[in-house]
Order: sequence, then structure tokens, then C-alpha cells
Amino acid sequence: MEKILMIPGPIEYESNVLNTLSLPTISHNSKEFILEYQSSLKNLLSIFGASQDALPFIISGSGTLSMEISTVNFISRNSKVLVVSTGYFGDRFATLLSRFTKNVEILRPPLGSAAEPKELYEIVSKNEYDVVTVTHVDTSTGVRNNIKEIANLIKETSSLLVVDAVCSAGGEHLRMDWGIDVAFSASQKALGAPPGLAVGVVGQRALRVMKSKDPLTYYSDLRNWEPTIRNTLDAKPSYFATPNVNLIRAFKVSLDSIIREGLDSRIRRHEIIGEAFRTAFKEMGLRLIADKSFANTVSAIYLPGNVELQKFLSSAEDRGFVFAGGLIEGISAKYFRVGHMGIIGSTEVLGAIDAIENSLKRNGYKVESGAAISVAQEVLAKL
Ligand code: PMP
Repeated sequence: MEKILMIPGPIEYESNVLNTLSLPTISHNSKEFILEYQSSLKNLLSIFGASQDALPFIISGSGTLSMEISTVNFISRNSKVLVVSTGYFGDRFATLLSRFTKNVEILRPPLGSAAEPKELYEIVSKNEYDVVTVTHVDTSTGVRNNIKEIANLIKETSSLLVVDAVCSAGGEHLRMDWGIDVAFSASQKALGAPPGLAVGVVGQRALRVMKSKDPLTYYSDLRNWEPTIRNTLDAKPSYFATPNVNLIRAFKVSLDSIIREGLDSRIRRHEIIGEAFRTAFKEMGLRLIADKSFANTVSAIYLPGNVELQKFLSSAEDRGFVFAGGLIEGISAKYFRVGHMGIIGSTEVLGAIDAIENSLKRNGYKVESGAAISVAQEVLAKL
């Protein structure tokens, strides 16, 4: 049986994206490829709501490489950084940054809560951080931070705001022109292409800071990449390191499809699908980790006390749906996660809810048959 992948990335991809991967590898210096690469870089600027003078990047690697590229270029050995952690990936940022500087501070709201923008601003305005990182949607908790308000406040300070949009770009509203200095993502989630590309956008303020830094890394040093990227944007061949030709071509097909759907319509679709899931979970008597700042792209749901995670996940797989377990230390076996991003629509959402309901029942939790589906259908009617 074909299974539907509804973990929070990688996800299901459009068949034309997947088919593009099977095309022959063409020269990275060919006109054909340069134009595809150029189009992807330009579409990235538009999807990130960035100005034309910002620097987009598409580099072989995963989201963790994006985290590194988006920070190490703007700090020095003893820079002071603040990490806002709303889950596992916020904590990863602190671990990553502590390789580069000993001055890493963490602001950790209670589990399930988003950062309070004004409180964050108070802290940032009293401390001269070189960089403040915020995870837009932490994939481990489904908590979404209010980046618009945070950016609007932080831009008044001297600190650069770096936003991890790995689990949000393409599924949540996010605009560099709110005052974000660097935002990054990866190919495999709501941007709709298989894993393997670290992507992001660096704004003007960060580019100025970059000029004065000398990062202790070669591959992640954006000054090595900038000339190649600028040349590609001008449709000229250029080389720093071999681009992932096949994956970039597939990524282009996905970005074209995002632009065709319209970013606002796409985000609205994600919003409705997220709401449909949450309404269904509530109907089943389940509780989310996020208290009120919910993501459009992922939900993290506590299992009822009597249900064992691995049994629940394998029952769901028997019904054709792949969900993920938890990631937060100490409670990772107590919750599961559903990724709801990309090309999915009502059919997949209702199928997933049916699989969750059945898997709960098979594992000893009483739930009224069909009730969650019917409340979700009402929400999905907005699609
Ligand atoms: N940040 C967030 C919010 C993520 O969800 C992930 C991956 N799930 C990462 C960073 C790291 O990305 P990757 O696994 O592609 O290295």
C-alpha cells in the first residue's frame, strides 16, 4: 500500500517536482541551468518578501547548514548572541552557536508558549547582542512565534534578527521587509522539494555586517558564494562549488508552482488545514503542546495516557499514514506530530484524521466514530 507521508518534513511532493529529478544532469554552466537557478533565486526573494538588493542563497545541504550559514557570517569569536528557543530546534541553535562563541544566552518561554515580543525587545535593548535568533515555527512543538511583531521591535536595536523559517517558509506569512535581517529554510518542507538544499535570504543590514567578519569556515562563508549568486542573478555562468543541478531544477518547479498558486492563497490553504486538524483533535479530546500560538504547518499532540506512541504510529501506518513521534527530551514518547504542509488538501486531511481516530481506538482510547471528521469537514469547506 502507498503510504502518505505526513511527518513534519520531508513531505509528499508534486509528481512534476519528482519527475524533474529524473532528468539528465546538465552542465551547471549551461544557459538552461543558469536560467533555472536564476529563477529559483528570484522566486526565493519573492517568497521571503525581500527586496531585490537582498542576497538569496541555495546551497547543497540541509536546514542545519542554513542555520550555520545564517549566523556564522555575522558573528566573531566572542560575539554575544541570544537564542529564543521554543523547542528542539531553538536548542539546536544554541548548541551550534556555542561552537563559535562562548557568549550564547537562551530565552526559553515555558513549553508550548511563544516568545513575548515586548519582553524579548526589553532584553535585547538592554544587551548588545550581535545576533538574535528566533525559530518561526519550532517543528518539535508546533509553536509559532510572532515574527512580524518581533521584527518590528528588533529592527530598532543594533542586533541582527535571524529567523529560522525551515518549518514556515511557504506555509506561513513571513516577510523580510518586516525588519528581518536573515531568514532561512530548507527545500524539504513547505517549499515543496526533496531534502538537500539549504536556502535563505540575507538583507542589506546583515550584508554590511558580513563585510567586517572573517568566519572560521570555508563552505559556509557567504563571501565565497556572493559573486556566484550575483552572477547567476545576472544570468552569467559562475563557479564556487558545484551546485546540486538536479535538485535545484526540481526546486524551481516547486517554487513555480507556489508562485502559480499565489503565496497568499497557499498560506490561507495551510491556515485552513491547520485549523481543521486542531478542531478535529479537540473533538477527539486531545491536547496540543502549543497553548495558543499554533502553526499552520505542523501540530504536536499529546497522546492519551493509555496509548503507546510506537503502537499508535504503526497502527496509523497500517491505515496508510506516516506521522512522527515527539522530539522534546523527557516527553518525546508522550506526543506525536502531524505535518500538514505542501500539496495536501481535504482528501489527505480527512484520511489522516480517520487514521488517527482509528489508531487511537485500536490502542485503547475511546473516541466517537466520525465526529472529528465531521467537525474538520466544516472547517475544510472554507477551502
Ligand atoms: N530548524 C527547524 C525549525 C527544523 O524543523 C529543522 C528540521 N526539521 C531544522 C532546523 C534542521 O533542518 P535539517 O534537518 O534539514 O538539517
